[in-house]
Amino acid sequence: MEKKRFIFDLDRTLLTCNYELVERKLFEPKFKDNTTWLMENIGKLLDEYETIYPRYNDQVLSEYLVNETGLAFTPEIIREWAHTMRSEADTMEDGVIEVLDYLKSKDKSLIVLTNWYGSAQIQRLKNADIFDYFDEVLTGEYQLKPHPMAFLRAIGDYDPRECVVIGDSISKDYNGPRVHGIESILYDKDDVHSNNYVKIKKLTDLKKRY
Ligand SMILES: [Mg+2]
Repeated sequence: MEKKRFIFDLDRTLLTCNYELVERKLFEPKFKDNTTWLMENIGKLLDEYETIYPRYNDQVLSEYLVNETGLAFTPEIIREWAHTMRSEADTMEDGVIEVLDYLKSKDKSLIVLTNWYGSAQIQRLKNADIFDYFDEVLTGEYQLKPHPMAFLRAIGDYDPRECVVIGDSISKDYNGPRVHGIESILYDKDDVHSNNYVKIKKLTDLKKRY
């Protein structure tokens, strides 16, 4: 079936952030000597949160992180973090504009499905000047990948077979949609994953497929 809706992951698929630059600056005054340990572990902790809980919520995330880290991760810190603009540390992945222009020219519907808070993600897309390509930007305070609701919202009124998810995470962007009959393509620019996955090394490779 012809693909009509393309659902893109944001982080490390469209934009890649140097977290050291922004999050160390945010955490260091609060967590002092624990900052290095935290920076090494926060990605894994958020991954676990996203697997357990259906959405981001300041209070729930605060309790989870206090419990997991023993640090005073207050809801106020979560809110500050959620609003932290990472744009100054963002680089756009190669071929983003080219592939978005191409898909738009083919009249495809483009969606962003990302797990972090909209307050940061939407502004990052705007600052990168790619926000207007997308019909919708779905963010983590409403539903988290790989929970079913995230994909059901992203396909909207389209037939699941008309949709395809493109992203860099095997659990969230690749296996998650497939469970619900939605095709997915792994973005694996460093070619670290098995060729058993349907994958692309360059985003512009989408032009050959669609
Ligand atoms: Mg990603």
